[in-house]
Amino acid sequence: MEIARANEGAFRRGDAARFTGEVWLRATVAAPDGTNVGVVLFAPRARTHWHRHPGGQFLYGLAGRGRVRSRGGAGHVLGPGDVVWVGPDEWHFHGGNPDEPMLHVAVNGGGAPEWGDPVTDEEYAEGF
Ligand code: MN
Repeated sequence: MEIARANEGAFRRGDAARFTGEVWLRATVAAPDGTNVGVVLFAPRARTHWHRHPGGQFLYGLAGRGRVRSRGGAGHVLGPGDVVWVGPDEWHFHGGNPDEPMLHVAVNGGGAPEWGDPVTDEEYAEGF
């Protein structure tokens, strides 16, 4: 059994090769198959680049509100208590709302995500 205590995990700044704006990530624990749980804080308008997870990803909103959208799909506002399932290899982004930060838990299926281009301001606004 492994426990990641809330007061022990350091947040690290998301790097510009994967994120736009100010994003802070805290990794926690990982299962033998690579499934892992992270906590992510997005400033308003901050977001991931387009990316996909080979094992899919659950997003669970904790605080604030943010945006999540699959490429070519409708936009969804993610708020506290909402759960989103992003299927395997589904290109998508997630981030803060235009005027609100968002804190979410991410449960990531095994396998390294593939990262693509930054989400442009037009793509960030599309579908909302
Ligand atoms: Mn994702």
